[in-house]
Order: sequence, then structure tokens, then C-alpha cells
Amino acid sequence: MRTIINNVNIFDGTGKLPFPGAIAVEGNRIINIAPEAIEPQSGDTVIDGKGQTLMPGMTEAHAHLTWPTSVEKFVPGMYLPPEELALTAARNARILLDHGFTSAYSAGALSKSLEISLNEHLKSGGMPGPRLIPSSVEREPPNTSELDPGHVEAHQMGPEGIKSFVKDCAEIGAKAVKFLISGESALKPGASHELLYSAEELIAAGEQARESDVWLTGHAHAAEAVKLGVKAGFRMLYHCTYADEEGIELLAANKDNLFVAPTIGIVQATLDANPPPHMDMSHMKEDAAIVLAHQKALVPKLKALGVKLLPGGDYGFPFNPNGRNARDLELWVEHFNYTPAEVLNAATQLGGEVMGMGDELGLIKEGYLADLLLINGNPTEDVALLQDKNRITLIMQDGNLYKTPLSQLSLA
Ligand SMILES: [Zn+2]
Repeated sequence: MRTIINNVNIFDGTGKLPFPGAIAVEGNRIINIAPEAIEPQSGDTVIDGKGQTLMPGMTEAHAHLTWPTSVEKFVPGMYLPPEELALTAARNARILLDHGFTSAYSAGALSKSLEISLNEHLKSGGMPGPRLIPSSVEREPPNTSELDPGHVEAHQMGPEGIKSFVKDCAEIGAKAVKFLISGESALKPGASHELLYSAEELIAAGEQARESDVWLTGHAHAAEAVKLGVKAGFRMLYHCTYADEEGIELLAANKDNLFVAPTIGIVQATLDANPPPHMDMSHMKEDAAIVLAHQKALVPKLKALGVKLLPGGDYGFPFNPNGRNARDLELWVEHFNYTPAEVLNAATQLGGEVMGMGDELGLIKEGYLADLLLINGNPTEDVALLQDKNRITLIMQDGNLYKTPLSQLSLA
């Protein structure tokens, strides 16, 4: 019993332009890719793709399922009671899938173990959402920040304190452990240039992460934060805004072991935000303009050096809702000189790699997992059309049809 999708243009995820063909899925794998329509056998499900574009599902590389606001529900502020937070995270997981994101790499949660529990429910089926690399809270030193959830343990500093945090996260089931290596100027002026951890603490985090088999994720704006993150073995570095020449060389020298996600979505959303008069975003907007200018210079350099760059834009804030994630792709074309096919390659093939599944996820290739989207239109010509979920006419995840165009479906 196969699912056959005939009459499609296949964007296979490699960056090659779409080509006409058909595919067959059996169980959760793509078993056949053919240039002509595939002949159904009794019991097969057949979908007429009507010449639409078939592509791999996308990966959001900076996901915050517990950041409450989505395109479906505006939430002022960031905090919710625990029951509400759990339901909101589950809802956001469904919203990401509805918008074509079949995978998500978490950039931190507003709860110690919520994403870990959520992931268990997602994996066992019956609850819609992306494949998830779950994270615990974002670790930062003691402070009074509104965004500090800090409930994993008391904020012990020093190498041993940091190690115990990483170990604790790993033991409760987190796969990625997030540190704010530098601060965030959008929240506190000048903080993006401040290091929040010492080299010894970050190296200790790296040692414990390897021992506990978890990945380290770093919020790194400052030049020194980028360098320390690479040296400590962080696998994912966000922002990298003020990376200097030495930092760029270090990123390039370690390009097989790490990913960089500039998170342009939140930057553009800050610039675009039109807050009510009682909310002053003028400082955040000034900072966003500086970050954008730096990243416009940085990202093409890193790309030319072969560093693996991923879209993902810190969606979930009131002015940058979950569900708008595909906007990053358009912004990459606009700001980073990517072609649509190049950024689609980053969102699919490189997305499979950041999920740790590069040999079986992120491409339309025989033997690969069937995480697929059918798009009404050609995203390699206009990547912005991915922002309209009504253009996503079919969503398949792990071989299961999550969204199906009934008018195009028949049984053999
Ligand atoms: Zn974030």
C-alpha cells in the first residue's frame, strides 16, 4: 500500500531547480522517484499533484514553541500560567506544521521540561507538530530580566555550576542546551557586546555536553562570544552579529561541526513593529537597524566560506508570531543575496542536517523519510508564497498525510 503523488514538479532540496516527475511513498519512506506518472496497484492511494511543486518539509532552526504569540492568537507579554503555557506550546507545534515546518530545532523554552514532554507526545503520534529537538530553559546568569525563566536549578556559576546545569538538562531529556553567551541589546542597551560567561565556564559546558550527549546552542552577538562558542564546541550559534575576521575564520574552519542561524525574522519584525503609544520600542528599533546592517555584510561572507547557514527567526513574540516562520526565507533573498532555491536548500537539506538526520531527512530522495509539502506555485521563483498556508495544499510527515487535497485524491 503506497501513496503515489503523480504530476508534480519536484524541488528535491539540493538547490537544483524543480523537475517534472512523480514519487511513491511506502511506510514512512520515499521508495521511488520517477520521471513519468507511477502506475498504481490495488490499494494504493493516488494523488494528482496537478503540476504543483513538491518539496521537502521545512525546518525552523530557531523555534520557540513556548513563546506564546502565534498568527492565530495574540498574547500580550511573555508569561502564562503553566496549564495555559502547555496548551499554547501544543497549539504552536500544530501551527508550525500547518505552515509547512515539519521539523523544528528549539532555541529554548519558558519551562524546564515542557518541550521534553511535548516531544514525547509528538513522537508517539496523535498530536500534530514538527519533529522536535527539545530544549530546556535558556541559561543566563542571575538577573532581573523579564525573560529569565531560570527554574532548572539555582544559578550556580563557575565551571562546576555550569556542568551541573548541562547534566541536569540532559538527564531530564533535553537534546539541545541553550546559553546566552552574550547579552541582548534589544532587551538591555549595550548588552550584545557583554559576555555573560567566562571561557572556563563555556569550555566546561562543552565537556559536559559531550559527556552527556547533548548539543550546545548559543545566543552570540559579541565578537568574543562567537569565538568562545566555537572553541567550546557549540553546535549552533545564533546571530553572530559582531563576528570579527578571526571569528569568521574560526567559523569557517569548523564549518563541518556547527551551524549558524542569523535570525533575521525578529530583526525585521522589530523594524516593522507599530506598537501602541504606551510601548516605546525606539531603542529596540535602533538596535535592530544596526544588527541588520551587520548581518547583511556578514551572512554573504559566511556563505562564500561554506558555513552552514539556517533560516529561523525567533518567532513567538507579540510582534513576531509563531506561524510566520516562512517569512525568513523571503528576508534571506531580500537581505542576504540568496536565491530562492538557495534558501530553500538551507530550510530543507541543511534543516535535515541540523536535526541530526542529514542522511535521511531534508531531501526528496529514495530511502529518505517522507516529510513533504505540495505547493500551489513555484517557490523557487517566488519564495514568499510559502507564507500563505493555503498555498500548501498537501503536508505529509513521516509518510502520513496530515493535510490532503481531497479533490486530488483517489484510491486504486
Ligand atoms: Zn530566541
